[in-house]
Parts: sequence; structure tokens; C-alpha cells
Amino acid sequence: MSILPESERPNPYSAYGAHGSVLVLNSGSSSLKYQLVNPVGGEAIASGVVERIGESSSPVKHSYGGNTTRREETVADHGEALRLALGLFAELGPDLERASVHAVGHRVVHGGSVFSAPVLVDDDVVRKIRDLSPLAPLHNPANATGIEVARELMGDVPHVAVFDTAFFQALPEHAYTYALDRAVAEEHGVRRYGFHGTSHQYVVGKVARVLGRRVQDLNQIVLHLGNGASASAVAGGVPVETSMGLTPLEGLVMGTRTGDIDPAVVFHLSRNAGMSIDEIDDLFNKRSGVKGLAGENDFREVRRLAEGEDPEAAKAARLALDVYEHRLRKYIGAYHAVLGRVDVLAFTAGVGENDAAVRAEVLDGLEPLGLSVDPDRNAGRSDEPRIISPSWTSTLVMVVPTNEELAIARQCIEVVDGLPA
Ligand code: ADP
Repeated sequence: MSILPESERPNPYSAYGAHGSVLVLNSGSSSLKYQLVNPVGGEAIASGVVERIGESSSPVKHSYGGNTTRREETVADHGEALRLALGLFAELGPDLERASVHAVGHRVVHGGSVFSAPVLVDDDVVRKIRDLSPLAPLHNPANATGIEVARELMGDVPHVAVFDTAFFQALPEHAYTYALDRAVAEEHGVRRYGFHGTSHQYVVGKVARVLGRRVQDLNQIVLHLGNGASASAVAGGVPVETSMGLTPLEGLVMGTRTGDIDPAVVFHLSRNAGMSIDEIDDLFNKRSGVKGLAGENDFREVRRLAEGEDPEAAKAARLALDVYEHRLRKYIGAYHAVLGRVDVLAFTAGVGENDAAVRAEVLDGLEPLGLSVDPDRNAGRSDEPRIISPSWTSTLVMVVPTNEELAIARQCIEVVDGLPA
């Protein structure tokens, strides 16, 4: 298998531009990120972020036409943040009327078992997103508020909610079920949901397209390695395993999260360290992972420490990388067993796309599984999907840049215009 030249790739999205652009909004607990997307080529026409909403001063950034404007503003809530963003479009461009915004797409973290696909937003959808807040207490309330203010301010275009969990609603029951008392699990919605679904689904589709294959004919392992990190096993386009669970805490070692850990560590720290549940939550989510081990969570810094002069810091950083890579290798092996045959293993997101050393180290010694990295191909840099395995391996190893905003934009057009996904 090889990468098809652009001109020979099927492009099911070539007509999407006739529908206009899509404004993609990501409302976090204290931030609003936005991107105006061209759904054909996928480029961001303009983008920006309002941070520290509700604090005394909020940094604001707006990029358009090669210029980036930064300001400090006072922004009380998400309504003011969106009003500010719309004001920046009017002042600095592009004119949203002329960009003919066809829909607004909202990234929503948790769709629970309720949402298995993107949906057109109405009052009932917003209520259900709020009702799912116990499963994502930091994210879903902010997502719902973001949708409400956007519907108020941009009432003349349809709004679509795209869920991070939706792709993984297709997981088989044996993969999403925890071996927990069934009554307790059912009453409280305790099961594996999986996250980063928009990215995993996008990468799986992109791989098939650039190889000129049908997604149904490929078994793929996708490693989404950003600050948050997750792996998935996808058989013929359908997910059969993923590493995140009830919340994004399960699975791989991440920038600041533990990933898999004996749940009894919670009991131990509660009983012996006198830590509260909230403190343990904070420890596992924000002060663990690579940061907990090496003191830094940006892989460029971790690598610098590992190769630096300070022997203590170098040892800690090297251990962090070893723990991170060991966990990844275990998942790759497990997903091989789940899939039986693996046609493609794809690296994506900040670390996966940029850290050649992590990619080489993770796959080192996995030749018996048909996995290897060609040093020259691996060292190359590109924004385009590429193959980094040598020509003799049975499994293609690829680097495939993800683009969640583009995936959301295209899903919006499919929902609004009733196109087949
Ligand atoms: P998220 O969306 O989860 O915040 P990203 O996918 O943007 O994360 O990934 C961010 C991470 O990617 C950074 O924390 C850093 O560790 C890593 N990263 C970004 N650029 C590079 C690079 N050039 N080399 C190594 N790691 C990088």
C-alpha cells in the first residue's frame, strides 16, 4: 500500500464548500476557542481564543489573514466572550456575512449513552447535555452554556453538537462493560465511553482516503498522543477497543494524567494520606502522568531534561519517557490481539505528529508484530499524512495529522443538509 497523489484521491468533500463555512466553537470551563473552517480544503479561515473567562483580565487572541491580534479584556462570562469574538470578526475580519456561515458546530465532551452521532441542537438537546453533567462536571455545563449563548447571538443559523464520545458508542458490549456490580453500574452510568472520538474517526477515514482503500477493508490502531492521549483499535471503520473509559483518565500515560492505575490507590491515599476525593481527583488528573514523573508535561521540555546536564532531572525525565512508552507498547500488543490483523498503525496529535523519538522508541523491538520505523522516513517532517515504516513490513506505520475542527465542520454540514456521513 502507498499514499495516492492528491489528484488521485477520492474527495467526497469537494462539494461541501457550496454550503459555506462553518464556525466551530469549543466552550471550556473558563475559555472559548473558535475557528471558522472551510469544510472542503479544511483550512482555518480565522481562529481565536478567549481565556480566563470570569477572572479580572482575559487574554484574547484572533488570527486572520496571516495577522494575529492579542488583547487583554474583561470578560465576565461565556456570553460576553462570544459577543467579543463576534466583535473581533466584525473589526478584524473576516466579515461573517460574506463568509456565509452555514452552521455553528459545538464540541461537546460527553454524550453519554444518549448521543451516538452529531445532532441538530434544540432545547431538548441542550437539556440532555446538561443532564449528562455528572459524567463530565467540568466540561458539559460549559459546553451547554456555550451552545445557549451561541444560539442567542447567532439564532439565524443551525447549531450542531458534535460529541467526543459518539464514535465509541459503537464499541462492543464486552469492551465497554466494566466488571462491576451490574445494578450499581447501570444506576450510575458506569461504563467505558471513550473520548477523542472525533479525532480517531477522522484519522481512520483519512488513512483510508490517502491510501485509496475502503475504510471497511482496513484494521487500524490509532494512537492520539496529545496532552491528553488515547488509543483505539478500529476494525473496518468500527471501533472495537479504546483506552479511555468513564472519563478521559483511563488508559495511556498522559501529559498530566495517570492513565491506568490500581483503583485501590484511591482507597490507600484516602485512608493513609488523609486526602479527600477532590484532592485525589486533582492529583490523578493534573499532577501526574509525565508531569508528575518529570516535572514537565511538554515533551520538548521532557526530552531536553532527559538529555540535559542535571543528572537527577535527566534520570526522572528518562523514567517518565520509559513509563509512557512501555504503557503504549502494552496497548499496541493488546490491540493486536483484539484485531488479529493490523493493516495500519497511525500516530496523531501533538506528540504523535511531532516527536519522532517517541515513535521510534515505542515501536523498537516490535518487529515480530510486523511493526517497524524507517529512521529516514520517521525523521521527515510534513503536514501531510505519510508512511514511516520500511517497505518490507506487514503493517503500515503512518503519521496522520488530526484536525478535529475540520471533522466537526464536515459533520455539521452532513447533519444540516442530511448528507450521508
Ligand atoms: P491537546 O489538544 O491535548 O492539548 P495537542 O495535540 O495540541 O494536545 O498536543 C500538545 C502536546 O504536544 C504538547 O504538550 C507537547 O508535549 C507535544 N508537542 C507539540 N509539539 C511538539 C514537538 N515539536 N515535539 C515534541 N512534542 C511536541
